[in-house]
Amino acid sequence: MNALFDYQVLLDEILKEHRKHAERGQLASYIPELKKADPKMAGVALMTTRGLFEAGDTAVNFTLQSISKVISLLVALEHRGVEAVFAKVGSEPTGDSFNSIVKLETSEQKPLNPMINAGAIAVCSLIPGQSVEERFGLIAGLLEKILARPIEIDESVYRSEKETGHRNRALAYFLKDINGLEGDVEEVLDLYFRQCSILVNCADLARIGMFLATKGINEAGSPIVSANAVRLASTFMVTCGMYNGSGEFAIQVGIPAKSGIAGGILGVVPGRYGVATFGPALDRKGNSVVGISMLRRLSEVLDLSIF
Ligand code: GLN
Repeated sequence: MNALFDYQVLLDEILKEHRKHAERGQLASYIPELKKADPKMAGVALMTTRGLFEAGDTAVNFTLQSISKVISLLVALEHRGVEAVFAKVGSEPTGDSFNSIVKLETSEQKPLNPMINAGAIAVCSLIPGQSVEERFGLIAGLLEKILARPIEIDESVYRSEKETGHRNRALAYFLKDINGLEGDVEEVLDLYFRQCSILVNCADLARIGMFLATKGINEAGSPIVSANAVRLASTFMVTCGMYNGSGEFAIQVGIPAKSGIAGGILGVVPGRYGVATFGPALDRKGNSVVGISMLRRLSEVLDLSIF
């Protein structure tokens, strides 16, 4: 891309053109607290070597939700090693929804990948520490190193999900039964619900994207995570990051990405950009409608597809 290219004009135009698509989506409702979001919000942020560009609701805080699965996977890979992680989760896409339980019994007795809830809960159980606080400290600590600021959780979303997360509880107890989860089930779930409740904004996600795009180097130039862990996480983002919408997303946008049901999408353009969108109205697969729509356009204009 030409050094004088005006990213700001591009993001402003994309936001203006695509904002209306938010109307086609629905707020996540199975975590009661998430129903309070304004479905019309939309934001897009692009982290470049020339700095951050953003348009729309990029400073609004929302919870990471499933995007946190990328962070805890990096922590587990770094602290426990590749072999220990792959002993508990596989590396195949499922074609099922993110919270599906069906394959746990019928496949090879471990969750198919770390981006679905069952796999992410298994990964959480691998994060070392004497207490949930200590384990959570490793996840929050990694984000703090990436974003160079303290991390907080949204207490009400955390409590809401902890009270109503019956399906995640079912997944976790099933995993325990098949020897797929280390340690105490309720403690692992507590850690999982906490990581899902971490507060970020769209600009933060673009910075996280750039951190992955540069293979684990933060903005100050320090290596934070090994390039191999980043490679594995980014590969999972391509094959499973948008759940059962990952194939279509790969065709339409073509970058490693991870969505969360609070409406964030984290995107990585290896070696070039971190890109992120926010829009809480979701499609039937749990991905932000306005987010996907903006990313499609951005990918066309900036030629982002890695394929
Ligand atoms: N906290 C949510 C859950 O476990 C995360 C799911 C998501 O963002 N898709 O159900």
